[in-house]
Amino acid sequence: MSLDNTWFSEPVDATGTAFSLKLGERVHSEQTPFQKIEIFKTETFGWLMTIDGCTMVSTRDNFLYHEMMSHPALNSHPAPEHVVIVGGGDCGTLREVLKHPEVKTATQVEIDERVTRLSEQYFPELCVANNDPRATLFFGDGLAWMKDVAPASLDVIIIDSTDPVGPAEGLFGAKFYVDCLRALKPGGLLVQQSESPILHLPLITEMHKFMRQAGFAQTRLIHFPQTIYPSGWWSGSIAQKTAGPLAARLDEKAIEAMDCQFYNVDTHAAAFALPTFVKKAIAG
Ligand code: SAM
Repeated sequence: MSLDNTWFSEPVDATGTAFSLKLGERVHSEQTPFQKIEIFKTETFGWLMTIDGCTMVSTRDNFLYHEMMSHPALNSHPAPEHVVIVGGGDCGTLREVLKHPEVKTATQVEIDERVTRLSEQYFPELCVANNDPRATLFFGDGLAWMKDVAPASLDVIIIDSTDPVGPAEGLFGAKFYVDCLRALKPGGLLVQQSESPILHLPLITEMHKFMRQAGFAQTRLIHFPQTIYPSGWWSGSIAQKTAGPLAARLDEKAIEAMDCQFYNVDTHAAAFALPTFVKKAIAG
């Protein structure tokens, strides 16, 4: 079925797949120094932000990604006090991170301020924590920021970036992981959005290899649904600075207080339960 212009479609030649959403209209388009950002009004998913033609965030389903890119990692750390989000310009991950009372500082390092300004306009519900006294919104390249940050100063690093192309490409490489390792305190960990287990397994395997080459003691994968991303099945890769079991701070009352729509004690456990083909691929 060829789609007319009442549909937004993200065809991905490399994977032979596409995702489409029935449109209302395209309401904004701008070329920033880094990328092309568009905002669409869709018929069933609310607002949609795309970057260089790739779906980033929609009103209807962003909770899947923002909750799963923050809570499993934060609850796998014994005391996540100092957190950095690289990317995350829509501010949804920042909002989830700041639901954790243990967090003392949350710094968002986003290369393109226009992403945040447009999110404030079209996704204000994602920006409700931006004025939290613990939050710092820094606009700059995460690669450079991680080189300069004080060693052993961070507990958790969340890499919530675009796909490994353009400004985000270096965020998927061993050199960046060496800088992240140095920035983390003993016991620290990073979690990085690592694309689709069914479409991008070679990339995931390579990321885990680079993380271990950089000196991380252990890597794991979490997976979760994410409707608007290619295949609808997404992942996060966790790398631990020191070996050993992950903490599992799964206080049901504390989690309930976070008012999540997807994350809970059961989906936390399920995210770490890997299909055989994925387990084999990342075994290293
Ligand atoms: N959830 C989305 C995904 O998985 O594709 C990512 C959302 S967020 C909008 C991605 C952000 O990463 C973008 O705002 C982009 O500007 C930012 N970004 C890309 N490369 C970056 C870099 N080197 N440093 C900091 N931010 C970067």
